[in-house]
Amino acid sequence: MTETVVITGANRGIGLMFAQQYAEAGARVLAACRHPEQARELSRLAAKTRGRVSVHPLDVTNPAQIQALAGILTDTPVDILINNAGSYGPASAFGDTDVEGWLETFRINTVAPLKIMEALVEPVASGRRRLMVNISSKMGSMADNGSGGSYIYRSTKAALNAITVSAARDLGARGITVVALHPGWVRTDMGGPDAEITTEQSVTAMRQTISHLTLVDSGRFIDIDGSDIPW
Ligand code: NDP
Repeated sequence: MTETVVITGANRGIGLMFAQQYAEAGARVLAACRHPEQARELSRLAAKTRGRVSVHPLDVTNPAQIQALAGILTDTPVDILINNAGSYGPASAFGDTDVEGWLETFRINTVAPLKIMEALVEPVASGRRRLMVNISSKMGSMADNGSGGSYIYRSTKAALNAITVSAARDLGARGITVVALHPGWVRTDMGGPDAEITTEQSVTAMRQTISHLTLVDSGRFIDIDGSDIPW
């Protein structure tokens, strides 16, 4: 049976590679991004896959666009929701944190994933995999924070981890698995040119890990290889 996968921030970086690989694997992909008219690579992918990939407008901080996407999915079971869209936000150091930029980053990295999980809970509950994957970051780990700094990014991803665990507890009775997944340090606009792995390597490993997730994994914070990351 064909899997249906919803991916946010699918126009570039890790999100685009998720769309590409799931499409190549035969899945139906709903690829959401802020500016579909500017998403050339995604449009090419959609054209190549003859309808298996559809592109949907979604600024993840826009409640009306979240509802519009949910409306499209009313009668469509969704196997996997991937909350991938994210922002590093403004650089931040002790004594130098831009509050407005912080709050905007919080809206993108933390509030939006929860709002999208809430809006898509019925389609996911009626899917076969019943999986919600929040792309988090090791930088949201307290245990892994050896270098300090990055107040904005770290705090919004730590908060994403907190909502992931709450949603895992709240949705377990409906058979929905919710995890926070670290993609590795990946060469994208966000990860930079010195990052350790390509989007292809990251997404290949994450898809492998995702394919094994079941309800017993719900509420975990996991690395690309499926191992636990300490909170
Ligand atoms: P990129 O900066 O390459 O891409 C970010 C994506 O998020 C873009 O598609 C961007 O869209 C989208 N996005 C940002 N804000 C919004 C918004 N308001 N609405 C909709 N989409 C939005 O980053 P990556 O591909 O590297 O990152 C993907 C995820 O992986 C993020 O959650 C990131 O935090 C996480 N991550 C990445 C790591 C890395 O090393 N690269 C390490 C750990 C975690 P647009 O083009 O419109 O800006």
